[in-house]
Amino acid sequence: MQCNLCLSDFARLEQSHILPKGGYKRLWDDAEPNPNPYMILGGKAVQTSRQFTAPLFCSSCEQKISANGENWFFRNCVQKNGSFPMVDGALGSSPFVCRDGLSCYATCIMPKLDSRKLAYLGLSVFFRCSLFTFPNKRHPVCQLGNHSEPIRKYLHDGETWPDKIRLLVFLIKSPDIRFVTYFPKSQKMKGCEVHDFLMSGVYYRLMVGERIPDKYKQMCVMQGCHPVFLSNQVEVQLKRLAVKACVESSRFTPSVTVGRF
Ligand SMILES: [Zn+2]
Repeated sequence: MQCNLCLSDFARLEQSHILPKGGYKRLWDDAEPNPNPYMILGGKAVQTSRQFTAPLFCSSCEQKISANGENWFFRNCVQKNGSFPMVDGALGSSPFVCRDGLSCYATCIMPKLDSRKLAYLGLSVFFRCSLFTFPNKRHPVCQLGNHSEPIRKYLHDGETWPDKIRLLVFLIKSPDIRFVTYFPKSQKMKGCEVHDFLMSGVYYRLMVGERIPDKYKQMCVMQGCHPVFLSNQVEVQLKRLAVKACVESSRFTPSVTVGRF
């Protein structure tokens, strides 16, 4: 079997988590009779213990993914007790742009915020999801087309950031939606495709395409000052998505959508 990251052949591959295991751990609510997390799956809020896995990578590539992104990310994302080191780090410094509810923080001057690891984690989730299809679906969760290979190369050797992608990172301040998780979803925009997911208090937006509007270059976490954002508008959109998912599931009233799920 061929490892999807190093492309070497192995007798067997690891059962790789599609969303990293650390993300699930932080969603369990031990205070509830059913501690399983709520996730948005197919647009609905679902309480499930199921962790999606697939034989994607060899064990050394699994370790590489952990070392290059996951270990740091899960120490610094929203924690079970509600603390959130990444947001504390951002709010402890001054934003260099603050306009219309959007604050931009330069991680290049924030020693506690490792933009490379933050980017690696996000990109690795999009990549894993491009290799995984839900049992009842025909297409992978996220289709990266011919951008898949430059992304694989970057995740493998960590050297050349693909030039036709932009990765935007938003930290979620609102306690209401910090525990919301959903798998990548995709939409077309003029000049590019946009994929996004939310996990452990961090919202990632990946833009891929030949004609991504120029303004997004400066917003990419791997360009310039390696910016991350806090955005009221993004938080309002995510809150709407969470409320809609709960209504769709018809098991919950909107008032309980905000909270741990
Ligand atoms: Zn490998």
